[in-house]
Amino acid sequence: LFLSCWASIGDAEYLKYKDPKQPLGVRIKDLMKRMTLAEKIGQMTQIERKVASPQVMKDYFIGSVLSGGGSVPAPQASAEVWVNMVNDFQKGALSTRLGIPMLYGIDAIHGHNNVYNATIFPHNIGLGATRDPDLVKRIGAATALEVRATGIPYTFAPCIAVCRDPRWGRCFESYSEDHKIVQAMTEIIPGLQGDFPANYRKGTPYVSGRDKVAACAKHFVGDGGTQKGINENNTVLSRPGLLSIHMPAYYNSIAKGVSTIMVSYSSWNGVKMHANQDMITGFLKNTLHFKGFVISDWQGIDRITSPPGANYTYSIQAGVNAGIDMVMIPFDYTPFISDLTTLVNSNIVPLSRIDDAVRRILRVKFSMGLFENPLADLSLVDQLGKKEHRELAREAVRKSLVLLKNGKSAHEQVLPLPKKAQNILVAGIHADNLGYQCGGWTIEWQGASGRITVGTTILDAIKLAVDPSTKVTYSENPDFTFAKTSKFSYAIVVVGEPPYSETAGDSLNLTILEPGSTIIHNVCRAVKCVVVIISGRPVLMEPHIEVIDALVAAWLPGSEGQGVADVLFGDYGFTGKLPRTWFKSVDQLPMNVGDRYYDPLFPFGFGLTTEAHI
Ligand code: BGC
Repeated sequence: LFLSCWASIGDAEYLKYKDPKQPLGVRIKDLMKRMTLAEKIGQMTQIERKVASPQVMKDYFIGSVLSGGGSVPAPQASAEVWVNMVNDFQKGALSTRLGIPMLYGIDAIHGHNNVYNATIFPHNIGLGATRDPDLVKRIGAATALEVRATGIPYTFAPCIAVCRDPRWGRCFESYSEDHKIVQAMTEIIPGLQGDFPANYRKGTPYVSGRDKVAACAKHFVGDGGTQKGINENNTVLSRPGLLSIHMPAYYNSIAKGVSTIMVSYSSWNGVKMHANQDMITGFLKNTLHFKGFVISDWQGIDRITSPPGANYTYSIQAGVNAGIDMVMIPFDYTPFISDLTTLVNSNIVPLSRIDDAVRRILRVKFSMGLFENPLADLSLVDQLGKKEHRELAREAVRKSLVLLKNGKSAHEQVLPLPKKAQNILVAGIHADNLGYQCGGWTIEWQGASGRITVGTTILDAIKLAVDPSTKVTYSENPDFTFAKTSKFSYAIVVVGEPPYSETAGDSLNLTILEPGSTIIHNVCRAVKCVVVIISGRPVLMEPHIEVIDALVAAWLPGSEGQGVADVLFGDYGFTGKLPRTWFKSVDQLPMNVGDRYYDPLFPFGFGLTTEAHI
């Protein structure tokens, strides 16, 4: 009786929070005063799509769902399949008493990289080499359209880490070792979220429309400064050091209205960032006036393991009291919900803390128009992998390539290559492997090998670029005799790292995948050779540099291999500049605060240029 009574009153009642004409603050206040503790804690809970269902959304008032790693509804799922899945979860959320929409998030970190047929842009390290914030903004706008095409309004990007040590497995997610470049590249945020209006209040989350997505600056803070580049490790740095290297890009992100900020797994001077109240509440929220919400990393609060004997309940208490607003659980959400309820009821976590978290989450949801338009339609499905976006990715690829060596003497320029050659040898597994040229965080969390999505390999691109009379011979692993006796005009050797992400990418020796260096020596001793390195960071090249005629750093270019051929064959000139110092030997690592390696192989900012053929 009570329920039906309530529903009929609810139907008739004017609900201020549902009225878009009401000011944001009024809507938040009105909704908050109606919410129970269970509804509030539900808003703070983010679960993985694998454990989500309309019923779970409804029963637990879940505030957010994510696709973690490469979590997809089905391999090669179409945009329609995604839209329907997201809408199903949304309908569950909307069927609750207050009908608060949930927010679906995904790691679209170089384009909509989990989704088959999406445009895959170069990873951030390559974008850092372009020195072109406007390009990066346009990439943000294209990515937003592709993400929205699948019904998703939120991406866990950009990563604004300042990677100080290339041994870190996430170095490719960092635009540069130089915080000024990372700061400039926060232009991706207005690309993703849209430009804000003139009357915009600094620090307020902002998403301009249904073709834009909420962004997430990550990982707060010092993720790129860990000792020996070990993922999730400790960043040992003075406060001025932390503030001057790792914090500046957060200032820019907040000024540009970033909706959310993700906390880093790493520690700073021994304190887990997930438990660092001084930095999350004190600095980020109180000093910097960040008004969006702070999200934990995947099982981030579970990593809070000190003091000794700390159990999961303690981790929840420490993380939420530190200032985390939304918790990426992601699977086993019921202990979180019941433990946090107990903690609030016993006042170990103050209700005011819960209210702060929920206010921030609702602020993001209201400000992006989620209450007015909670359900996605199919109007944007054609945006996925569309021609204009692939053209943009191709432009980004050619601007990201850095020419490190061009001829063995000043008089002999190897690049650009002539399109009319008799016979070209293309060598190395990376030459014809779309998965390898996309790197980690593509279709699968760790990346994958082969034709994993729609795109052009470097070999495809070379064949498309050369004159029809030119013979292109591909050999994955040619030996010296083959290279010597086959009378090639020149060779293009494409070698580098295999795909990886996060801890799996940590490396102490930074060598390329074998037989890469054997191929370099076999081919370059026999034929004039251009070596193209596919890697997420500088790799050990010093032992090979003498034998190589021309050397190109191509980073992880993504799905549009034609951008590589564009500059190799001179349709465009080389313009990219190193976003990182290229070490000579791993003994030179790490990079110390304020200095560059003594005697690097190639200094920061280095990059030769070529003229385009007219
Ligand atoms: C990563 C985050 C990512 C999250 C969700 C974590 O392992 O550290 O960068 O956003 O997973 O996939």
